[in-house]
Amino acid sequence: MEKGIPITGHTQLIGLIATPIRHSMSPAMHNAAFDQLGLDYVYTVFEVGKDELEAAVKGLKALGVRGWNVSMPNKSAIIPYLDEISEASRLCDSVNTVINDDGHLTGTVTDGIGWVRAMHTQGVDIRGKKMVLLGAGGAATAIMVQGAIDGLREIDVFNRDDEFFKRGMRQTRLVNEETGCHVTMHHLEDHQMLHQKIMDADILVNATSAGMKPQDDICLVQDEDLHDGLTVFDAVYNPQETLLLKKAKAANCKVIGGIHMMLYQGAESFKLWTGQDMPIEEVKKALNL
Ligand code: NAD
Repeated sequence: MEKGIPITGHTQLIGLIATPIRHSMSPAMHNAAFDQLGLDYVYTVFEVGKDELEAAVKGLKALGVRGWNVSMPNKSAIIPYLDEISEASRLCDSVNTVINDDGHLTGTVTDGIGWVRAMHTQGVDIRGKKMVLLGAGGAATAIMVQGAIDGLREIDVFNRDDEFFKRGMRQTRLVNEETGCHVTMHHLEDHQMLHQKIMDADILVNATSAGMKPQDDICLVQDEDLHDGLTVFDAVYNPQETLLLKKAKAANCKVIGGIHMMLYQGAESFKLWTGQDMPIEEVKKALNL
């Protein structure tokens, strides 16, 4: 490392517990931000699955690690080992960030806030809007919950008939009961309903893995679904310009890539651990984004 402050006995540790995880962009993002601000922290990843999760959480707590991110397959499984979780985490049944305040562990989820900030900084106000959301997994649920809390009027969720559909039904029921947003779950296989709902929507979000490598030749909507006036967001950031975004651009839609959500969810976690704002523009430069 040519820049940055040296690691010493005072350096604080932040981690990420998940598996598989070696490919993650988070270490580069957070270490670039620590470097820019001259903060004495270091961020690294730990290959931890469900079997090692309880021991890992106890170990991180015993070592006084300041905080950590959580990714698959631990996002729901970690909840019983924490002292407290945020409202958004409860509605999502998911945690992606843990803050360790002298042994008191608080879990929260920053993906949804990261998505709202990404939309906002790209000039999209979600309040009062109708949205079609593709997916009912971790990213989709976080977007649904925060979008509902922050003022979306209607969300139509479409998922294929897999294990995420049932989970989606449960989470949409909770959001309907506890927010002012009206959420309906549909089968992705119902092409006519999907077309009708997208034609009537302001925002279309893909939060499935369709479009992500190695599924990068898949786009879940048809050319005729995309219309002028629609904002299209794709949570996928590998590749940065997905097939969906290419098609949406060609149809004159406003397009926003998942890399923005990635950066802002990281920035939210960063603030919770360090109390500082992540220098987003400098981080983008350091990561060649
Ligand atoms: P997940 O495993 O929790 O959910 C996967 C979802 O994709 C499910 O809804 C599943 O039904 C759907 N799916 C998978 N393949 C499909 C296909 N061929 N056709 C239709 N549906 C399909 O995963 P996740 O953590 O929610 O991640 C989903 C995507 O979002 C990934 O590409 C991930 O990289 C991305 N993501 C981005 C950010 C960000 O900050 N930009 C954050 C989290 C996740």
